Amino acid sequence: MKKWLLVDLHIHSTFSDGSVPAEEIVKIYGEAGFDAIDITDHHFDTQSPRSLEIHEEGKSVKNTETYFKKIDEITHWARETYDLLVIPGLEICNLLEDYHILGIDLKEAINPNQNAEGVIEEIHRQGGLAIASHPPLKLSYFLNGDNESIHRHPLHLWKRRERYADKIDAWEIANREDLFGDVGLERFPYIANSDFHKPHHMTSWKSMIYAEKEKEAIKKSIVEKKVALFFFNEVKEKRDLPQNGQPKDIPPKDIPIVQEDDMKVTAGAKILIVDDEKDLVEMLAYNLERKGHKTIKAYDGFEAWEKIESEMPDLLILDLMMPNLDGWELCRLVRRSQSKAMKEMGILMLTARAMPEDRVYGLEIGADDYLTKPFSLNELILRVEKLMEKRKTISQLAEKVESLHSSMETKESNLRRIAHDLKSPLISIGFSARRMLRKGQNEEASGALKTIYDSSLNLTRWIDETLFFHDLTQSKWQEQMKEVDVKSLVQQTIDLLKESASEKNTEIEFKASLPILKISCHESLMYRGLVNLLSNALKYTPKGGKVEVGVIAYFNKRGSGVLEISFKDNGIGICEEDLEKIFEPYYRGKNVSTEEGKGLGLSFVKQVADLHGGRILVQSEPNKGSRFSILLPVKGNFKAEETERAHEVI
Ligand code: ADP
Repeated sequence: MKKWLLVDLHIHSTFSDGSVPAEEIVKIYGEAGFDAIDITDHHFDTQSPRSLEIHEEGKSVKNTETYFKKIDEITHWARETYDLLVIPGLEICNLLEDYHILGIDLKEAINPNQNAEGVIEEIHRQGGLAIASHPPLKLSYFLNGDNESIHRHPLHLWKRRERYADKIDAWEIANREDLFGDVGLERFPYIANSDFHKPHHMTSWKSMIYAEKEKEAIKKSIVEKKVALFFFNEVKEKRDLPQNGQPKDIPPKDIPIVQEDDMKVTAGAKILIVDDEKDLVEMLAYNLERKGHKTIKAYDGFEAWEKIESEMPDLLILDLMMPNLDGWELCRLVRRSQSKAMKEMGILMLTARAMPEDRVYGLEIGADDYLTKPFSLNELILRVEKLMEKRKTISQLAEKVESLHSSMETKESNLRRIAHDLKSPLISIGFSARRMLRKGQNEEASGALKTIYDSSLNLTRWIDETLFFHDLTQSKWQEQMKEVDVKSLVQQTIDLLKESASEKNTEIEFKASLPILKISCHESLMYRGLVNLLSNALKYTPKGGKVEVGVIAYFNKRGSGVLEISFKDNGIGICEEDLEKIFEPYYRGKNVSTEEGKGLGLSFVKQVADLHGGRILVQSEPNKGSRFSILLPVKGNFKAEETERAHEVI
């Protein structure tokens, strides 16, 4: 009587590389309610060093006679005990010829040292079925990055499948993992077996064959494609079935699963998986969800873009080669977006392309990480976890930076207020001291008053410089640019310091070659810069010296030119070694003795010149004097005389 028989026709025992003895196999399958099994231990060729090694390692049947005898013995016992039909067979393997062929229902050994056609003929001569053993490469090899298996996998039959189509009786399609492989699509007769080596291989795809429970009928039904596929998962179902009777945690297919303790869990991310390989998407989604992530799936670029916009995932797992919009384009779209969430989205690229320049390009256009197919599932999950951790840290850091920024702003504004409040009383202390000095005092009093005046001037200057430095970095200065008369600005500088000059008996001479010259500048910054240069000239020039202040402009014929404001003293001068360093903040030259200062004046002047698109120059000779000048770009129409001179200079 015909019925659907539960069958597994690819089983290895301890006769080759299986871990379970033949009797035990019968017990396992018999208790699991199977109708028919075929024990198909390896029988390897002896034509290559590796196959000889396999023989030595005991992974190939040593004595086929004993093997067949044993199977014959257990066949009777299996039938009686479990009503299980045991069929003798072999998996004939030849490494040189690169084939594995299952011989189902064999009476005796088959010579493996021949080509595939010879083996198939011998099988048929014995009345057996020739089944192509796991013909195409397994998806799991790629998913696990198992290059060794990819390399080892026999492909002779699959590569020439058209030639073998009418010789091979059935093609194995479900070698534990690859149910939806290429065999089914080729419309060849197929059969699902477990390629059993260990007890847990029971959980795998099996065949249901519509036939009477005897060898000839089963073989006939396979050839006639009266085969249905069945995922045998009884052990797992029993263990995992919860109270309400719904199985839980059963993979959608027999797909590779990441073990729980393989890695640390960073759960809770929303991950969009974009790939046109549906099986791969399913497999990734299943494993990521087991890790506590929420997954969204898309199978081409357009669909992915829609889902990115509507779902705003935390992470994209992105295949590069996709129909419509490819992974590169999608990555660029995401990174070019104005949305902060999109810009911060993690992107992990997957691709079959392994060229280093592709990786670099991917990272350049904004991917965070890159994995080449085939990749190991564990590695992918690990990278996803790492990426999510990185994203989390970055966003936490960004929040911290923001809060630090705002607390710094508060502190700065407090500091500015305090500094400003300090300045007013300091200035009035200084001016009061000067007023009293003018009234004429005895030597002791005027010495003290002078110290008060100088110190208040120094402190005010220091406060100004500190505040100005702050303004410079805040770039608020640009808003305050205006047209300023240079000559009058220089005059103000001289007026401020002429008192100090006269006290030192130092003459200040001012020469301006132009009657009126206006430049666009930040008036108070420029004023502070000029004050610094003039006060340095006075400070570093001994009593009775002379400081020449000059303003001169050089223009070309197009009317643009350079303005030079110079301060020339005949003071102590600067040694050559120091000339390059004196513009660095806090640097004070070797020439300094008792002169007060903080080494900030010149660096301030340099910044002012830079901000106005100008330069600061210095010429100096020890004990002879120094000449500092600020060069600033200017525009205007001036007399031919200056224009001529400018032409030479610029
Ligand atoms: P400070 O005068 O407070 O030391 P500056 O930045 O204004 O700081 O000047 C840096 C250094 O450059 C001074 O310490 C001094 O050695 C040197 N220097 C600046 N101007 C002159 C000058 N006119 N003559 C000689 N040395 C100068």
